[in-house]
Amino acid sequence: MPPPHTFQVGSLRCHLLWAGLQRLDGGAMFGVVPKPLWEKRIAPDARNRIPLAMRPMLVEHPAGLVLVDTGLGDKEDAKFREIYGIENAGDPGPTPLEDALRSLGHQPADVRWVINTHLHFDHAGGNTLRDDAGGVRLGYPDATYLVQRNELEYARHTNERTRASYLPHNFEPVDAAGRWRLLEGDGEVLPGISVRLTPGHVPWHQSILVRDGGETLCFLGDLVPTIHHLPLPWIMGYDVEPLRTLESKRALLAEAGRDGWLLAFEHDPEVGLARAGVEGGRMVAAPVPVPA
Ligand SMILES: [Zn+2]
Repeated sequence: MPPPHTFQVGSLRCHLLWAGLQRLDGGAMFGVVPKPLWEKRIAPDARNRIPLAMRPMLVEHPAGLVLVDTGLGDKEDAKFREIYGIENAGDPGPTPLEDALRSLGHQPADVRWVINTHLHFDHAGGNTLRDDAGGVRLGYPDATYLVQRNELEYARHTNERTRASYLPHNFEPVDAAGRWRLLEGDGEVLPGISVRLTPGHVPWHQSILVRDGGETLCFLGDLVPTIHHLPLPWIMGYDVEPLRTLESKRALLAEAGRDGWLLAFEHDPEVGLARAGVEGGRMVAAPVPVPA
């Protein structure tokens, strides 16, 4: 299991945490980009699947630990895990995410805030976990959970195209426990931590900005799932509104390049963090290695 990737945003210590792997169809991950182009970046397996990380972020904030996204969790059955090529068994677990938290000296009960970019199963699956009686419990029993109000509504009103990604046991128990704080649009949710709507993958997707001491980090979520998705037309086939993704990327990445942001890639199996900049009028990003 890759160790946490720890870095500073001003006075705020942040960690990218390993929550396991999944494998998704490479063609679906790169949309209209022809295979001869994308397979040079990430090699597919015999079933045309590519490995994708699940990599939530922990922020050590004066208001308490903040966890951005929660990986897949432990509630899905063997058939599901086979279809999506899930590798996320923990030791002692239940998943590598809880192990990573413990490696930093924290327990799940220490997490005070959970922010979901959106409610797809690979981003919100760890919001809840299996309990000993075969039911479902909160993965972070003392946390307040934050998501866009409209994303929760969207997750509750699925259609044939969106249904497979939204599993009610990942978000309804949070509601039953009265733990949602539902957000409406952009804004600061804690000092130095804000959310920004970046629609396209789903209509109410949000990216998370951490700002302190003149530094800015953007946790992109599924707006730019891997470093290979930085070119504007490299957009996932999964996105429900790809032309909105295009405009969300155009605006956010221009700002990131101009202001030299750090960028966190939730699904890239190799590169968790990169530094944005501009070269020859083009936005570029240089991987930031895990400190030795
Ligand atoms: Zn998603």
